[in-house]
Amino acid sequence: TTSFGIEEALEQLGIKDVNQGTSTGNEWFSNGEEISSFSPVDGQLIAKVSTTSKEDYEKVMQSATSAFKDWRLKPAPQRGEIVRQFGEELRRLKEPLGKLVSYEMGKSYQEGLGEVQEMIDICDFAVGLSRQLHGLTMHSERPGHRMYEQYHPLGVVGIISAFNFPVAVWAWNTALAWICGDVCVWKPSEKTPLCGIACQKIAAKVFADNNLPEGISCLINGDYKVGEMMTNDKRVPLVSATGSIRMGKIVAQAVAARLGKSLLELGGNNAIIVTPDADIKMTVIGAVFGAVGTAGQRCTSTRRLIIHESIYDKVKDAVVDAYKQLRIGNPLDEKNHVGPLIDKDAVRMYNQALEKVVAEGGNIIVEGGVLEGEGYESGCYVKPAIAEAKNSFEIVQHETFAPVLYLMKYSGDVENAIELQNGVVQGLSSAIMTNNLREAERFLSHAGSDCGIANVNIGTSGAEIGGAFGGEKETGGGRESGSDAWKIYMRRQTNTINYTTELPLAQGIKFDL
Ligand code: NAD
Repeated sequence: TTSFGIEEALEQLGIKDVNQGTSTGNEWFSNGEEISSFSPVDGQLIAKVSTTSKEDYEKVMQSATSAFKDWRLKPAPQRGEIVRQFGEELRRLKEPLGKLVSYEMGKSYQEGLGEVQEMIDICDFAVGLSRQLHGLTMHSERPGHRMYEQYHPLGVVGIISAFNFPVAVWAWNTALAWICGDVCVWKPSEKTPLCGIACQKIAAKVFADNNLPEGISCLINGDYKVGEMMTNDKRVPLVSATGSIRMGKIVAQAVAARLGKSLLELGGNNAIIVTPDADIKMTVIGAVFGAVGTAGQRCTSTRRLIIHESIYDKVKDAVVDAYKQLRIGNPLDEKNHVGPLIDKDAVRMYNQALEKVVAEGGNIIVEGGVLEGEGYESGCYVKPAIAEAKNSFEIVQHETFAPVLYLMKYSGDVENAIELQNGVVQGLSSAIMTNNLREAERFLSHAGSDCGIANVNIGTSGAEIGGAFGGEKETGGGRESGSDAWKIYMRRQTNTINYTTELPLAQGIKFDL
């Protein structure tokens, strides 16, 4: 793999053979057990990381709570200037960081670069936003009174992220949290700790160059036990957690038990509805990229195609044909479409899903399987598979984080397709392929898709940072990134000011002394 420039990338990013996994900025320490990061690309050990002990965590929290007292006093546009510089550093290091994402996580190099581009985009967005943290002004019911609201910084924001977007999710949170005046403590996935270390180094340099204190950007590493230190910690008013529904239910309860706030970005079970008026060519591109991109390991991956019976065979044949052209292999090699799954556990889940769909009466129309031999030594490369299935199958109701696509038929009206699309517990992304205005508008209406994201004539996967990102139902209800998602990183205060010499009470209440 050295031929793809990985060694140089690691060097540029400051990744060593053994790394400390806890940091408050330029200070690095770590006394927890060591974890190893293996690449799913070639099965090689990339480097080791020592995790965060309870004592290390205490040190981090002391640094973060103390930094918050300084950082919140800096005017928001000046905080924006720091985020601007951070975006510049990301531009400078886009290639090595994109390469590390690809090598440690297994997505294609193009998608690795795309992830870093998302980080850059959210920085740009945050810079502008740093001058627009607006509240409203209201008219008081009392004479000589003025009322308005302000947004103030919240404190320490805890970020728990998943392996599949090992760098972008952190930036979506930090870029906004920082301009809002918060400080951040990040626990990346234990499957992608090196991406975390690389990002922390990039941020730390910017804070140090500007003579800012340690603690504004902090990193902790380890598995769920390290995550739990934050979810149970009253000093962390907001926990932003991205990952599985199983994790979200545990995290939400822990944070709620201390009446903290949580922002949850959990699993999806995304469908594309294909109506009789769909453009078949666009449908195939959208569906295939959605199903096999990132080897089906996106929260917005297309899992279900709900196709009208009148065009079912046509769409099915076109999609099956497209699958024949897929090249599976090293994601750093740009001629491949599909890279590896993250690890052998994921391969096991993929195999189980294919067994289950057959056991429940499904019909496999594109065979799956684990690839072996030269180039596939990591044991993590699988063939994207397609099965005809029913929405009611248990396995179809469940998000399998792998390239398994389920096809199902609907008949009659688009309402029937919408009912199937909504008939799962998750509510992240959805799409309709149609040139029929009535169908499109019904899909987007109050009685349409129940997802946080609903698209017309594009697939389910791939979102721009300008919109609020997140989903309903068991996807967790959180919103990140664009629109007014910033508000969750701040606390709102309502102010009433009396500029008279009287003290009238609200609602006209009389209280004479
Ligand atoms: P995961 O749930 O296994 O792990 C996610 C993170 O949560 C990791 O950092 C993990 O250490 C931590 N964690 C797990 N249990 C915890 C606990 N009890 N307390 C505190 N932290 C805990 O998920 P994964 O396999 O890394 O990622 C895949 C999942 O993430 C999929 O379900 C995918 O849909 C979802 N995802 C959602 C979004 C979104 O924006 N909605 C984005 C990316 C991924």
